[in-house]
Amino acid sequence: MSSASFPLRMQSSVVRGFGRGSRDLGIPTANLSRAEIGDALFASLSPGIFWGFAGLNGDVYKAAISVGYNPTYGNAEMTVEPHLVARSDDERRAASSCGETVLGDFYGEQLKLSIVGYIRPELPFEGLDKLIVAIKNDIKKTEELCDIETAIVKQEKEWCAVRVDKSS
Ligand code: ADP
Ligand code: MG
Repeated sequence: MSSASFPLRMQSSVVRGFGRGSRDLGIPTANLSRAEIGDALFASLSPGIFWGFAGLNGDVYKAAISVGYNPTYGNAEMTVEPHLVARSDDERRAASSCGETVLGDFYGEQLKLSIVGYIRPELPFEGLDKLIVAIKNDIKKTEELCDIETAIVKQEKEWCAVRVDKSS
């Protein structure tokens, strides 16, 4: 298992997963396509929970990012799935069943993702309630880390704000 250094940038359209994020947890995650991330970059990723930024149509969001097999569910394939956090003045910020962000459907749209840092290993949880508590804590940490205006944070927000050029 090789490990890549941060920040790690990728770009992909948003694909369908099992739909559990919204349905079971109240925490939707935008699943990226392994093929579009690219084999070399995908192979360099190790499972874990990470923080960073996501760019969607020029808008930048803080992102709590799951990379791995969702061990509470035991997926066969590794996935990369950021939860995008709306700003505090956005009414969509607390729209979900557990009080997290629901932006509306953006399947098929191009997403830019910058993974800036690591939060914790992927862990199996006994029951969805414990998983939800853990993810809510990950989102809180993500927001705190994203608010520290380091040079890398500024640079990655700027990169995410540039709309995807579909010809490249
Ligand atoms: P799936 O298993 O298909 O990824 P989810 O239940 O995880 O389904 O929901 C993810 C979808 O919900 C995203 O692809 C996107 O279209 C939408 N969505 C709405 N709000 C968010 C958000 N805050 N973060 C990520 N995706 C969101
Ligand atoms: Mg998802």
